[in-house]
Amino acid sequence: MPVPYFRLELGDDEIDAVVGVLKSGWLTTGAQCAAFEREFAAAIGGGVQAIAVNSNTSGMHLALEAANIGPGDEVIVPDLTFTATAEVVRYLGAEAVFVDVLPDTLCMDPGDVQRAITSRTKAIIPVHFGGLCADLEALQALADKHRLVIIEDAAHSFPASYRGKMVGNHNTFATVFSFYANKTITTGEGGMIVTANEAVAQRCRVMRLHGIDRDAFRRFQGDSAAWAYDIVAPGFKYNLTDMGAALGRKQLERAFDMRDRRTAIADAYRQALGELPLELPPAPPGNDLHAWHLFPIRLAAAAPIDRPGLEAALNAAGIGYSVHYTPLHRMTYWKERYSLSDNRFPVATSYFERCLSLPIFSSMTQDEVQQVVSVIRDAVA
Ligand SMILES: *Cc1c(COP(=O)(O)O)cnc(C)c1O
Repeated sequence: MPVPYFRLELGDDEIDAVVGVLKSGWLTTGAQCAAFEREFAAAIGGGVQAIAVNSNTSGMHLALEAANIGPGDEVIVPDLTFTATAEVVRYLGAEAVFVDVLPDTLCMDPGDVQRAITSRTKAIIPVHFGGLCADLEALQALADKHRLVIIEDAAHSFPASYRGKMVGNHNTFATVFSFYANKTITTGEGGMIVTANEAVAQRCRVMRLHGIDRDAFRRFQGDSAAWAYDIVAPGFKYNLTDMGAALGRKQLERAFDMRDRRTAIADAYRQALGELPLELPPAPPGNDLHAWHLFPIRLAAAAPIDRPGLEAALNAAGIGYSVHYTPLHRMTYWKERYSLSDNRFPVATSYFERCLSLPIFSSMTQDEVQQVVSVIRDAVA
């Protein structure tokens, strides 16, 4: 029996909620988005504002815009991530500065970040790789010392926690989640900016919808008609639909349960594959929550096969897998723009050549987990 890399978990609740929106006659940003924002902020632990957007990418663009990032500025990003983390820096005319990751967590290496800081550095975008929180404490110390803002790319990490507090509730400039179709919860396409900073929240709210500011209009014109608004900036079209938000609200209700089931799969993999010549992703420290969006394994030097060999075995057995990620320094645009090469990123490069992400999704059955395990065992034992 084939095992897919990912299978969506969607119930009648989700379907009914979306149909309810369709029948309501109001499809775009409205009451569902407002409720989703409130509920998401509460799930992060409260004391934050949540601003729903149509993707993580647009949310990170808005957060960088709110931080006043522009031409001449540098923003530090990890080499090992999806291109969205870095492309948003270029949207604003600033330069992305790539750093290597730590060999165990695969999150950005604070030592390499420190070496990359210049007088032009304005921001750091850590990625909580696979759902494990980056070393926020070390990054926060660097940010404080050099007056940098931290915008967390939390596309993999809902729900996750760090030092007892949810990712999204660590008082960084902003944290941005993704609700893309294969992320830990989905709205089809969507994302959420979370921040405790009122001014940042306000700027993101205005800029996600054309730079429309009804409050500014009322301040200057007094009470006015429902149609009246002012434009305070050339904003963007980044709002989430109410159909997406209704889906997201139902997914949010299951998010912690789905996470627990992914954790059980991660535990089963770690148990079953622990003795093999593989490096497995580490469990989170202490009682922290790992979102387990990815389960990336690495072939150890002692493994009898290389990555293409393992891929062939998985393909032959019909087991889905993926690779996260080809490091950005190997992608034409980034490589050419910044003249990047493998030797600048030894950890990401060596990880990439030996890595493969196993299926880990909430509706995965024990039988499916066992099939994956036995194919990997046969291939590398
Ligand atoms: C998926 C992903 C994104 C982009 O998310 P969208 O919601 O599709 O814009 C950004 N960063 C990382 C690390 C991702 O995995």
